[in-house]
Amino acid sequence: MVSRVIPVDVFDLVIFGGTGDLARRKILPGLYRRFLAAQMPAESRIIGAARAELTDQEYRDQVRAAIAEFVPADRQDPAAIEGFLARLHYVAIDATGANGWAQLKALMRENVVRAFYFSVAPSLFGDIAQRLSDHGIADAWSRVVVEKPFGRDLASARALNACLARHFNETQIYRIDHYLGKETVQNLMAVRFANILFEPLWKAEYIDHVQITVAETVGVEGRGAYYDKSGAMRDMVQNHLMQLLCLIAMEPPYHFDPDAVRDEKLKVIRALKPVPPEDIVRGQYGPGNGEAGYLAHAENPNSRTESYIALKVQISNWRWQGVPFYLRTGKRLRARASEIAITFKPPPHAIFDDASGWHENVLVIRLQPNEGMNLMVMIKEPGPGGMRLMQVPLDMSFAEALGAEAADVPDAYERLIMDVIRGNQTLFMRGDEVEAAWAWTDPIIEGWEARGDRPQIYDPGSSGPEDALMLMHRDGRRWREIR
Ligand code: NAD
Repeated sequence: MVSRVIPVDVFDLVIFGGTGDLARRKILPGLYRRFLAAQMPAESRIIGAARAELTDQEYRDQVRAAIAEFVPADRQDPAAIEGFLARLHYVAIDATGANGWAQLKALMRENVVRAFYFSVAPSLFGDIAQRLSDHGIADAWSRVVVEKPFGRDLASARALNACLARHFNETQIYRIDHYLGKETVQNLMAVRFANILFEPLWKAEYIDHVQITVAETVGVEGRGAYYDKSGAMRDMVQNHLMQLLCLIAMEPPYHFDPDAVRDEKLKVIRALKPVPPEDIVRGQYGPGNGEAGYLAHAENPNSRTESYIALKVQISNWRWQGVPFYLRTGKRLRARASEIAITFKPPPHAIFDDASGWHENVLVIRLQPNEGMNLMVMIKEPGPGGMRLMQVPLDMSFAEALGAEAADVPDAYERLIMDVIRGNQTLFMRGDEVEAAWAWTDPIIEGWEARGDRPQIYDPGSSGPEDALMLMHRDGRRWREIR
């Protein structure tokens, strides 16, 4: 199977924070890969904008080093790298001052797509938006891309939305959640809405429960002081896990159109019930395996911030009445694994005498590693031993279907940046969605802060705190293994 690459229009992309960690690790290597795949037209340009005083050549050298470090060796084509670097420019700019803006304006071309990637701290978004508009650099066709975190509560998210709205229409604002750029996440929509097979079963009558897991092996070392002000609820649940939940739970949109999809996601968020304290488990990794624990990494011996959270979430609508969505995410866990598992109910009546081999049908959507889907089904165990049942996976992983081409599936950032250039907002969060997500999140956080709850300590390399196991056992269910 050959994946099609459709070139996007010629563009000028300005990366504010073009020397930062995100630009070096994700944005620039991703753009190089799109250039290599001939999706980025050769006449396009990328303009790094940051505080350091650099020449174009010095910036290109930095980006060459970033490509060498972050692009797999088999994708490093010296001629393509030089061709890509030739498309790069640099402007030293002060987001909060007057330096550099006139040079940036002089560099921008007419009649090409203009995109501005705000890969800087959110406190600078307002300053940059203001200066882009004061200097007449952003026009009605320009797009701005903003990074997470989009606020730390409803009030700050509203303030950010208001500050962007002073200079840009909602159709020009692309709030990135890189989980939405993952191939499997989009495939989830294809599987649900392009097949007749699943949708009739996609409701409380046939689904027992849903598990969403985002497990990481890394801790917060190196950025603990920053993380400690946020925690797993703000850093992961309010955005990434919430978006995944929306894609599973939403009604079919009338069309695969940005606002139609986002309207349906918004309805899900608005239908989320408040979560009572007994349905929330927060954890903090302790020291172990020769490494310091969370408190040392956070440089805050009294920290009550969670590095792990598990929640039982209910959606108050017709389709999902009584179906729990169990969400969990944490650092320093047993394995790096992100997956969604949809567990179906048993058949209404068992006709086989030997039910010992029986298991529920589970649709597992794996986001990382090994993006793909598996449907666990029951079959007869082969052989002459009578009618015995066994569970087997129907494997729908990309590596199988695409073969060597699976390696060319664009990473989430690449895909999302190309969507920005195409002007397609389907995979970006709308302002009202983000605010609704915070409106659900805020009382949960305020609740544990008011109660003075302390997170439970868990062993590094484990699957999280004991109480999280109990959250499931209480309901007669079990978490899937993290592996
Ligand atoms: P960073 O600190 O590595 O880089 C910040 C960049 O902003 C640098 O290029 C710096 O020169 C520039 N900058 C800072 N102050 C400036 C000013 N006054 N004027 C002009 N430029 C200025 O940060 P980062 O890790 O690259 O993160 C950038 C944004 O992306 C942040 O909002 C962060 O939350 C978000 N983000 C980062 C990651 C990641 O993996 N690094 C992941 C998700 C989101």
